[in-house]
Amino acid sequence: RSLVTAEADGDERAVEAALRPRTLDEVVGQQRVREQLGLVLEAARRRERTPDHVLLSGPPGLGKTTLAMIIAAEMSAPLRLTSGPALTHAGDLAAILSGMNEGDVLFVDEIHRTARPAEEMLYMAMEDFRVDVVIGKGPGATAIPLEIPPFTLVGATTRAGLLPGPLRDRFGFTAHLEFYEPAELDLIVRRSADLLGVEVTRDGSAEIAGRSRGTPRIANRLLRRVRDWAQVRADGVVTLEAARAALDLYEVDESGLDRLDRGVLDVLCRRFGGGPVGVSTLAVAVGEERETVEEVAEPFLVRNGLLARTPRGRVATPAAWAHLGLTPPPGTGD
Ligand code: ADP
Repeated sequence: RSLVTAEADGDERAVEAALRPRTLDEVVGQQRVREQLGLVLEAARRRERTPDHVLLSGPPGLGKTTLAMIIAAEMSAPLRLTSGPALTHAGDLAAILSGMNEGDVLFVDEIHRTARPAEEMLYMAMEDFRVDVVIGKGPGATAIPLEIPPFTLVGATTRAGLLPGPLRDRFGFTAHLEFYEPAELDLIVRRSADLLGVEVTRDGSAEIAGRSRGTPRIANRLLRRVRDWAQVRADGVVTLEAARAALDLYEVDESGLDRLDRGVLDVLCRRFGGGPVGVSTLAVAVGEERETVEEVAEPFLVRNGLLARTPRGRVATPAAWAHLGLTPPPGTGD
């Protein structure tokens, strides 16, 4: 598993908990979202009502779970956590909803992966604060209406476009999280170092920020690996030298590309003259599954202007050649 995957693994969630901002003021960046959400929450507090349902969309590791926790904390309400894939039957959702109290916040991660029957129950619960619980099967089945105290649903999705319209429409407030700027990631690294009790120099944190792919989760993970290096091989201070040495060891380069990313670019440029080449051919050449190349490596390369997806295949951009320190053959980029 690469050091620059944006998803968390099981163990990491526990480590991350210590680094989570607890209030909106502690959240770094996302200025507009913070302001808008702050207003929604403050207004609800003044009216003594539960806030509207909130949809948070954006790539993994940008702070959706963190914001859900903050919403609950700012409303002094308990947070219940579940996820779309955990809601396979309507009954799974009914069980959660029937245990809710007024004002509770329900966080549904990966809400776009909720199974159809649960999703339909969710529509009704969000809109009318009631659900129909079906008892029995076949012709003898009866629907028993169940009232639910007003609650706030916070849904998170990496793919807002995949959400069915009726579900999307039931959120009163939608926030789209964007990738972070290096200066913001730099602040996050320094804040985390503080919480971990690690000393970090200015150029040390900047180096980590620059390799973090715009993603706080990755920034925090790289910081932990550099800290290891600094503690074992040096005096424990996260310096520029420590950051470079540790991240070179893990094969995360200056732009945050890992071995697979560079492998894809390398094969594309050196073996296929910069393309266009089909993704399957590219995958075979780097010795990976097609899906891995398409879903793991390509999004970041495309976002960073290193690779283009064209109808005729994948093409290396001039920036890709430059990144590898190669000269593009004449006629590329036409
Ligand atoms: P998501 O739910 O979008 O995958 P998380 O909320 O779990 O992301 O955030 C991943 C990690 O990054 C957490 O440890 C969190 O503390 C940190 N993080 C995310 N956004 C911010 C932010 N704006 N400021 C500081 N830390 C952040």
